[in-house]
Amino acid sequence: MDFTRWRNLIIDMDGVLWEGQTPLPGLLPFFAAVRSTGRAFVLATNNAGLTIDQYVARLGKLGVAVSAAEVLNSAEATADWLMERAPGARLYVIGGPGLLDALTRRDFQLVDSDVDYVVVGKDYGLTWHKLDAAVLAIGSGAQLVGTNPDVTYPIENGLGIGNGAILAALTAATGAVPIIIGKPEPIMYRQALARMQCTAASTLAVGDRLDTDILGAERAGIASVLLLSGIATAAQAAGSSVQPTVVLQGLPELTAALLAAPG
Ligand SMILES: [Mg+2]
Repeated sequence: MDFTRWRNLIIDMDGVLWEGQTPLPGLLPFFAAVRSTGRAFVLATNNAGLTIDQYVARLGKLGVAVSAAEVLNSAEATADWLMERAPGARLYVIGGPGLLDALTRRDFQLVDSDVDYVVVGKDYGLTWHKLDAAVLAIGSGAQLVGTNPDVTYPIENGLGIGNGAILAALTAATGAVPIIIGKPEPIMYRQALARMQCTAASTLAVGDRLDTDILGAERAGIASVLLLSGIATAAQAAGSSVQPTVVLQGLPELTAALLAAPG
């Protein structure tokens, strides 16, 4: 496959750049190839466990220099999406430090009455009281917005509960259908295109999950490469109704493809 037309990359992080705390093989040569071939990129993740500055610092420690504008997580994407539609809006927030940081750096009011939007992300301090407050606000007309739809989340001994399962509880209680910002919805991908000021046709999405990264790329009209270094296996990719444009083993193979198409 000729990668010449793909001048811009939207790159997932977990399972692509690292697995847990361990960087995956070929990380530094990959970023060197992206820079040397003059490609633009945005790192885009559903994981809002770290703030943008923390991602920049983490990459810096691994020897990869990126700017804050080159990193997008679902919390930042949610805050940007709300700013476009409703600057100054009154928000009731269920969420952790990453989401609160993204929202409080912008012009919003965090409230628990007369709520315009109930915004839901992962919250280790979630209580029944917060769920009650969210349900009451939705019942009074607030719109429900979720940072990401993942119903499970990898934890030490397997899969724990993800944000999507909390959204499902709120939907069960209210009938409200959430607006989802993260992958596989196309909103975060479209924001990444806007940041790079580029077209979908010149852009390649890089990910390790068929149900989020690759499906999201399809919905946004972006070509995609599935790396087999994370969640998805070759057998799953072969049997899936969601098909990436290209399947590669990992970063070294992607690096070779980029260098073979310097543009
Ligand atoms: Mg991933």
